[in-house]
Amino acid sequence: MAIEGGCYCGALRYSIEGEMPRGGLCFCRACQHASGGGPNAFGLVAPERFVWTRGQPAVFTHPDKADAVTRAFCLACGTQVSTQRPGQRAVIVKIGTLDRAQDWSGPGFAIYTAQKAPWHVLPEGLPAFADLPPR
Ligand SMILES: [Zn+2]
Ligand SMILES: [Zn+2]
Repeated sequence: MAIEGGCYCGALRYSIEGEMPRGGLCFCRACQHASGGGPNAFGLVAPERFVWTRGQPAVFTHPDKADAVTRAFCLACGTQVSTQRPGQRAVIVKIGTLDRAQDWSGPGFAIYTAQKAPWHVLPEGLPAFADLPPR
């Protein structure tokens, strides 16, 4: 069964083959900018399981960071749909863009918590990493 998703306005649509992706919460400052202030909820999808089915995203890579992610977003409505990290074989899908985001099992871990604000809520008992988890 395919999992469908897309940006807010529908100009970008994608399909994920297989199961609901597992992932976590990212509290990095860049995600706070992109999300409007909260952490980003993301799921990791093997590239061969992910396909754009409508439109092509605009992309942005932070020019001031060597290992910066590239964010893919909709030029029409501004929704960030996914990111890719250099050296990581995964499409990082933003959970809020899934048609049935409510079906996600929830975050399995939190990353970049060193950058979180004091008022952010970290779910109790969630494994948390100051930056990225060790590989
Ligand atoms: Zn859009
Ligand atoms: Zn982040």
